[in-house]
Amino acid sequence: MRPAHALIDLDALRHNYRLARQLAGSARALAVIKANAYGHGAIQAAQALSGEADGFAVACIEEALELRSAGIQQPILLLEGWFEADELPLLAEHRLWSVVHQHEQLQQLLKARLPTPLQVWLKLDSGMHRAGFAPPEYPQIWRQLQASDQVAGLTCISHFARADEPDCGATERQLACVSQTLDGLSATSLSLSNSAGVLAWPQAHKHWVRPGIMLYGASPFAFEQPAAARLRAVMNLDSRIIATRELPAGEPIGYGARFVTPRPTRVGVVAMGYADGYPRHAPDGTPVLVEGQRSHLIGRVSMDMLTVDLTDLPQAGIGSAVRLWGEGLSADEVAAHAGTIAYQLFCNLNRVARRYRG
Ligand SMILES: *Cc1c(COP(=O)(O)O)cnc(C)c1O
Repeated sequence: MRPAHALIDLDALRHNYRLARQLAGSARALAVIKANAYGHGAIQAAQALSGEADGFAVACIEEALELRSAGIQQPILLLEGWFEADELPLLAEHRLWSVVHQHEQLQQLLKARLPTPLQVWLKLDSGMHRAGFAPPEYPQIWRQLQASDQVAGLTCISHFARADEPDCGATERQLACVSQTLDGLSATSLSLSNSAGVLAWPQAHKHWVRPGIMLYGASPFAFEQPAAARLRAVMNLDSRIIATRELPAGEPIGYGARFVTPRPTRVGVVAMGYADGYPRHAPDGTPVLVEGQRSHLIGRVSMDMLTVDLTDLPQAGIGSAVRLWGEGLSADEVAAHAGTIAYQLFCNLNRVARRYRG
């Protein structure tokens, strides 16, 4: 059997969810498990958290129905709501909570005749300028929904564009926009914080937080952050050395001869490639662990294999364990080398079997 696999540590996932809850004080926490729980397996993640999560958040009804079919009973919020009006009765039937972020959805909901009214999270564009209603129109829409018999309850939801940049001033401006817009609306339920908000913006915790990436043990910050340092890695992307070769100085390795040996070099071939989700654009020097020791990529990543430097690890050979990221080597560090973020590394996971522990 090809040795490439992702070992998912569900104890670490629970640890990270508890940390989010603990940091958020009295706020409740929707575990964000969209995109197959950022590549970790949505059903397994939901089941691992089902004893303690206040609810879950996903991107669309397809993701939510998969969880309902697996027996998940908690509230599930659709972060972009429905995409076509014919989804609305299904939302009611499966007790899904829904964001409403634009006028077409609003009109569809006001016209609907649902068997049970909907829990609506009305999205405010407080500065991200992606989804949501503009502040001047928001209060009137809030009141309209408050008066609608299609609506069981209303939460104000907004999203930060730069909560991972503590000193840029943008989050303070968004917070001010939210409180100005809600002034006089007697809103009793408010949700603003993604992981960066949970970790670094206590004044933004409000009633519901929405941690995503932190549940999976990666940090939303590009710098050391004390709360993020308490997270535990969940995904261990592992494989093994499947071949070794000794090369003299001056020899090219792999496609395009991107790397040329500067010294006599012992090369290890690892069963892992971009078809597994390892980033093809990872440069020479990107760290890997071989039997727990640091080594690094040499040569371009291919579809099914990549090559690492074993020159200083004489004890390593065929069968040696290789960790591409996980405990001992953070996905954040690998992502930084590859010019991306851990979010994308996780979501790109492909082909490899997922195994679970905990
Ligand atoms: C994905 C998402 C989150 C989670 O964000 P993280 O940065 O992964 O914590 C929270 N809220 C909304 C609206 C999202 O789309």
